[in-house]
Amino acid sequence: MENHLQTKDWGIGLKGNTIIAGPCSAETPEQIEKVCLDMIKENMIPDVFRAGIWKPRTRPGSFEGIGEDGLKWMEIVRHHLNIPITTEVGNTAHVEMALKHKVDVLWIGARTTVNPFAVQEIAEALRGVDIPVMVKNPMNPDLQLWLGALERLQAVGINKLAAIHRGFSDSYDKRFRNKPNWSMPIHLKREWKGMEVINDPSHIVGNREGILETAQRAINFGLDGLMIETHHDPDNAWSDAKQQVTPARLKEILSKIDFKDNLGEENPSEVLNDLRNAIDHLDDQLLDILQERFSMIDQVGAYKRAHHLTVFQSDRWKYVMESRTKKGVDKNLSEKFMKELLYCIHEESVKRQEKQLREADPIKK
Ligand code: PEP
Ligand code: MN
Repeated sequence: MENHLQTKDWGIGLKGNTIIAGPCSAETPEQIEKVCLDMIKENMIPDVFRAGIWKPRTRPGSFEGIGEDGLKWMEIVRHHLNIPITTEVGNTAHVEMALKHKVDVLWIGARTTVNPFAVQEIAEALRGVDIPVMVKNPMNPDLQLWLGALERLQAVGINKLAAIHRGFSDSYDKRFRNKPNWSMPIHLKREWKGMEVINDPSHIVGNREGILETAQRAINFGLDGLMIETHHDPDNAWSDAKQQVTPARLKEILSKIDFKDNLGEENPSEVLNDLRNAIDHLDDQLLDILQERFSMIDQVGAYKRAHHLTVFQSDRWKYVMESRTKKGVDKNLSEKFMKELLYCIHEESVKRQEKQLREADPIKK
């Protein structure tokens, strides 16, 4: 089989807009075959075929995965589609079985990423093995846990790594099964240059209707691909029935998505260059103004020290917050952004003045 997985630094080795599709769970050999045949019929062959073999269900009693037998059925996928296969692993035994059956790509699920012991155990089982691994975000929006899991895999020599944004559990927002937090994958990409982040709209929205909109947002933000649960008969799927789509619907969804070019960075156009130069210049001005503002803050600090005033003055803070937020909103800046910006500037000001006090009047021991 042609190796699709060898071509780039971070990521599972496919070039941009990777499409991963297949059922939530492998159920029967007939089901796997029907999904494959419908994909062929629709000419909707994904880059990678997914199927869960061990299902981490939140509560016991529902279908918990077919186990090792399902891995044998992956031969059916190889026979019909000849594309790489991926499945979820949650412990050493899963890793061993997946490697034995030559699964091409592994993924670590959200319920496992939260647990550094479990991730470390999986990493140890993969020491010295050359296999791509994708790490879903942890259940809670903790970037450090997500990065930590990727680092544990990197530390044992896995160098084809990708992340999957599948949203975060939030029982208050009924619009989503797992609420997306778009700053999280962007943060991850800032922290880890070149890290590929795939979006999983199926587990984010939890229904068929919302998949297109969420997938488009992921592409707009610059995520690198999509994992979409696909079943020949979604209504009768043994797990996640509400959110799975048919290969025909998958094809329709993908045809409606406006995929963006992620490779423009190497050769930005003149228009983009001019705009970016103007922004660089404005940022310089912004920094000059901040420098001037903080020098005033220092003078106010000196006054407060001389007059034995506390650094934090709530009336002044209330006035600054309210007046600037209003002005910002009038200039089409969002209220949330204004508040965060002012909190950040004010916190730095208060800390700076308190440091001034400490240094000018050290405690006599
Ligand atoms: C899945 O992909 O089927 C799955 C269980 O995902 P998650 O870990 O995101 O819940
Ligand atoms: Mn699922």
